[in-house]
Amino acid sequence: MATGLQAERNMPASASAPIDDDADRVLIVGGGMAGSMLALVLGRAGVAVTLFDPHASPAPAFRAEKLVDDQVALIEKLGALDCFEAACWPADGDPLAYPAANRPSLTDCGAPNHEWVAAVRRAWPDTVRFVQGSVDHIETSDRIQHVDAGGQRFSGRLVVLASGQAPQLSEALGLTKRSISAAHSMALGFSLSVDPPIPARTLEAPFGSRIGYASLFPMPGELRVNVFSYRGLDDPWIRWMRRDPVACLCDTIPGLAAQLAGRQVLRRCEARVIDLAAIEGAQPHGVVRIGDAFQAPCPASGTGMLKTLNDIDLLANTYLPGWLAGPSVAREVIAAFYADHAKRRVDDAALAISLRCRQAAVSTSLYWRIRRRIGRLKRAMLPH
Ligand SMILES: Cc1cc2nc3c(=O)[nH]c(=O)nc-3n(C[C@H](O)[C@H](O)[C@H](O)COP(=O)(O)OP(=O)(O)OC[C@H]3O[C@@H](n4cnc5c(N)ncnc54)[C@H](O)[C@@H]3O)c2cc1C
Repeated sequence: MATGLQAERNMPASASAPIDDDADRVLIVGGGMAGSMLALVLGRAGVAVTLFDPHASPAPAFRAEKLVDDQVALIEKLGALDCFEAACWPADGDPLAYPAANRPSLTDCGAPNHEWVAAVRRAWPDTVRFVQGSVDHIETSDRIQHVDAGGQRFSGRLVVLASGQAPQLSEALGLTKRSISAAHSMALGFSLSVDPPIPARTLEAPFGSRIGYASLFPMPGELRVNVFSYRGLDDPWIRWMRRDPVACLCDTIPGLAAQLAGRQVLRRCEARVIDLAAIEGAQPHGVVRIGDAFQAPCPASGTGMLKTLNDIDLLANTYLPGWLAGPSVAREVIAAFYADHAKRRVDDAALAISLRCRQAAVSTSLYWRIRRRIGRLKRAMLPH
């Protein structure tokens, strides 16, 4: 059996000879949130895992940065809450630590996504082997799988594709991408100086601005501002946001100026175009897709993390033990995971919310005009 190595200690693969792995090894392609969390859960359960990613340390990338209650509950169930707490709450004595008396709850602050992933990777047990490299070829059958990375061939029982939205590996496996809503939304994020501290809040933009909402929350050493919009990349408003996000946002959302004015921009505004798509085609034997590699919702829906964690929970705790004990990981066996009621419920809701959020922000139909008016009335009746 291959020995386990922690990520930081592993070296890029170099030889071209095949590595003769044990037959029950799980090969995880991609070390973002989906792959790294699954490796942690499986590794702790004693499953031998090899995880491939081009980055030895998770690269900064604009992804989920703040948790909500149902995500925290699943993270706790998966035994990884301390990793997220470590990233969100710098230890006492750290210059970025929150004052002991005023530390926000886990759902009222955030952390850069790569810090979460790094903390998860640090918790990997020795049963997880990290290979730094990009997987460029996968060969599958109903019994044994082969993965090529960095000129080496690795074998195992099952390939878990957790490579995010990059289409190359799915396409090479014969799957195709069907667009559901091209250029569906645009996610923008920037960071400001954190003083004076303000609590996390979500602000709606006036109808007509084609903005879903802005989310403000403290992260270690910064005030993070994420904005979910339904404007195109060449829209002058987007250019203004990228040039001068504070002035642009204060102009768009009344009431923000008092909270943002005078703060220094610590991290410039990045913008990500979001396409909604489904991956279709005859599923290969021996490969299961999770996280964004299965389906990526719109970030404005705030459901990507829940979907990813739900995939990990179902796969690790319900399906994988049987697959590893049984004779075959044929596509028919794996199809049961995709059809699972608990998976379908979360995935379908993520897509429905993604589509609904856009309609709520841009549709001028009678239905949505009434829905918005009811929403405003309900909010006005809430105690202030
Ligand atoms: C801008 C933005 C904001 C978001 N905000 C929220 C939010 O507020 N709330 C929420 O719940 N969700 C949010 N999401 C969604 C959430 O972040 C994702 O659903 C989640 O991070 C998916 O993780 P993943 O590991 O599947 O994919 P990724 O994070 O994309 O990771 C994929 C990994 O695969 C690796 N990889 C790719 N190709 C290969 C290869 N050939 N070989 C080896 N490795 C490879 C990459 O290096 C990467 O590490 C947001 C997403 C975006 C884009």
